[in-house]
Amino acid sequence: MHCPFCRHGDSRVVDSRTSDDGSTIRRRRQCPECLRRFTTIETASLSVVKRSGVTEPFSREKIVNGVRKACQGRPVSEDDLAVLAQRVEETLRTTGSAELDAHEVGLTILGPLRELDEVAYLRFASVYQAFDSLEDFESAITSLRARREADADAVEPAAALAAEGARTGAMEPDPDQDVLSGHPS
Ligand SMILES: [Zn+2]
Repeated sequence: MHCPFCRHGDSRVVDSRTSDDGSTIRRRRQCPECLRRFTTIETASLSVVKRSGVTEPFSREKIVNGVRKACQGRPVSEDDLAVLAQRVEETLRTTGSAELDAHEVGLTILGPLRELDEVAYLRFASVYQAFDSLEDFESAITSLRARREADADAVEPAAALAAEGARTGAMEPDPDQDVLSGHPS
């Protein structure tokens, strides 16, 4: 890349350092023309195109914030949320695209959230997929039950989920809420 001081078209890397989590690399560069030094930070590009058309960098924090509300009162820790956001990021990165639709990001959250907590999943899905009737909840619960029956390790009685699901139905999801940012769009 060119030198930010004299715009010389080339620069030499004098030092490279990877961040502790391995997600970014800092390079110390020197311009062969004016000999001044500058730093570049390299990171694998991943951005999200919101419904409004605005593009912003993918952020695990936004995923956590979007999901936290659905997890209120549920046995889900901050660590669980961090792991979920990491899984979402990994899944999105494996698509190979540098730019993703916010809707795709939301859909990617659903799978790991369902594994984490079914009630939180129902809450999130009800807002995200704009459930507007009891039938929507019913069909979501039916598919959760089918999944659970297919899972030999299921331990919780399905009745508990139905009771929680009914309570979830009393929530009033705001259809204008942007689940990824937590701000009205
Ligand atoms: Zn220069």
